[in-house]
Amino acid sequence: MKVYDISMTIEPRMAVYKDRDAKRPVFRTVASQPAQSVHETELTMNLHTGTHVDYPRHVMPAGSDSDAAELFPFLGTAVVLDLVGVEDAVGKKDLEEHSIRRGDLVLLKTRNSLQEDFDFQFVYLSAEAAEYLAHKEVRGVGIDALGIERDQTGHPAHHALLGNGIFIIEGLRLRDVPAKRYRFVGLPLKIAGVEAAPLRAVLIEE
Ligand SMILES: [Zn+2]
Repeated sequence: MKVYDISMTIEPRMAVYKDRDAKRPVFRTVASQPAQSVHETELTMNLHTGTHVDYPRHVMPAGSDSDAAELFPFLGTAVVLDLVGVEDAVGKKDLEEHSIRRGDLVLLKTRNSLQEDFDFQFVYLSAEAAEYLAHKEVRGVGIDALGIERDQTGHPAHHALLGNGIFIIEGLRLRDVPAKRYRFVGLPLKIAGVEAAPLRAVLIEE
């Protein structure tokens, strides 16, 4: 059994959205030995740091949040699509060449996975492609960028997916993962009443 860790490492110098300092995780040692009997670290970070799930509340004022999230969508089949040749936005025609089944978690492996720094021109999912995936009734969509779209007015890709009960994972790392089907495990942290949550995601090859 081979397991691929497709999560980002949370560390002070990791890539953060648009390189904004306010988005950087802050680590603080609040107790240390030998002065104290234990070692403790406090971590302050935005919930959209690294690999994380977006819930509908992220873009819809009346959308559901972590309280309503079930666990089962985060376990099951995932299909990794090779889209490394896409330059700008993943379009509907890029997806039509691939076998996508109802209930799949679709993971978009793009050129974003080939670099570690934040790229302001990262490959994103077009609105039309998001609608296509919603029409296919996939259960989730993941991308190897810190956003599923860049700055598209009105966040149409977020709405096309989250508005249809399809969860979104951002910040995946897929460089070393061959494009095919896997078993996916990626459970969001159990945090009450929030619009996003970090998760540790893996793909299991069977
Ligand atoms: Zn997010």
